[in-house]
Amino acid sequence: MVNLLQFDRAGLGDFCEQLGEKRFRATQLFRWIHQRGERDPAAMTDLARSLREKLATHAVIEPLPVASEQVAADGTIKWLFDIGGGDAVETVFIPETGRGTLCISSQAGCAVNCRFCATGHQGFSRNLTTAEIVAQLWHAEFELRRRLALAPGERAITNVVMMGMGEPLQNYAALVPALRTMLDDHGYGLSRRRVTVSTSGVVPMIDRLREDCPVALAVSLHAPDDALRDELVPLNRKYPIAELLASCRDYLERAPRDFITLEYCMLDGVNDSPEQAAALLALVRGDGSAASPGLSCKINLIPFNPFPESGLHRSPAASVAAFAAVLLDGGIVTTVRKTRGDDIAAACGQLAGEVQDRTRIGERTDREVRVRVERRVAAPVSRGPVPVARERSVS
Ligand code: SAH
Ligand code: SF4
Repeated sequence: MVNLLQFDRAGLGDFCEQLGEKRFRATQLFRWIHQRGERDPAAMTDLARSLREKLATHAVIEPLPVASEQVAADGTIKWLFDIGGGDAVETVFIPETGRGTLCISSQAGCAVNCRFCATGHQGFSRNLTTAEIVAQLWHAEFELRRRLALAPGERAITNVVMMGMGEPLQNYAALVPALRTMLDDHGYGLSRRRVTVSTSGVVPMIDRLREDCPVALAVSLHAPDDALRDELVPLNRKYPIAELLASCRDYLERAPRDFITLEYCMLDGVNDSPEQAAALLALVRGDGSAASPGLSCKINLIPFNPFPESGLHRSPAASVAAFAAVLLDGGIVTTVRKTRGDDIAAACGQLAGEVQDRTRIGERTDREVRVRVERRVAAPVSRGPVPVARERSVS
């Protein structure tokens, strides 16, 4: 059985052909799955009967089981999805006036191992499939539509950020079809500027994304110099800052916006001094020379979200304000990210899948730790297939 959430529309066309059906049927099928949330081929009334019958025997539309759901005081929702084998990933919905942002995971754990990130600390378990990436959006969109009683055509999710667990550009092959499904007018119809890939700086893959699917790009910088970034984001040893910024400049040729977002997690006494702000300003402004061309960017300062094992502390608000002032005075658009879902540990860098390292390997090595789902999480709200309101016609 093939899970149809695995395919972008071109892939679904190939699958239809393999079943001996016309390629164009894939568009209708794709709309049923991603615009209607329909799982039952028998209910897809405008599909040829032959196709419906073949789908019933060869394919499924299989969402991810929800292990738990938590709702924060500010309306943020965090879902924990069971992906089997003892692994789990988290997805966060952030409601704001006039928009709803979904923060999606790309891997169970992460191999980059940034010092300040709970996901990094748990080690890498495995890449998600395209179906598992898309299933997070599918579940959130149709569950929210049902709960909010939205009219057909109304969207619950207006923006997607690949800022959940994992490094999306280290799972490139699965990521790109998922992005295409989000952008597809017959799928979720999100514009390229409303879909953001956040990366710790996998330079060759930034270059490929520019060619294959140039959505909005956010780059996790966190330090103004290589010596500090080597410590905070170990991937910097492979792709240092100069190379990273050069690849960001190239990306701008195709990017849906004329800037790259640089994320900077504010760590008390580590990367938050006024001198470091000045160094960051010099880096992004450049001096006009070929050696230091700068970068058209916005800077997003993220107050560090602590977790017990990190040994790090959040910068005081005054340090964040002083740091921001240096950048703003230097003419760089700078924002401070509001922390959402504090009471349910749904903020940036706190996503760890509520996991437990039962192997205790973590005490010997902080890499390649197999993680296990902690089952004693908040009471499950639903398990297995999600009930979705049936609609009988496609408008
Ligand atoms: N792997 C990608 C995307 C997931 S992390 C990346 O690193 O960009 C999403 C964002 O949260 C990144 O900017 C990351 O640096 C930041 N982050 C990680 N841990 C954090 C923490 N404890 N507090 C605040 N931000 C954190
Ligand atoms: Fe991985 Fe991003 Fe966390 Fe770094 S910050 S460990 S790249 S998820």
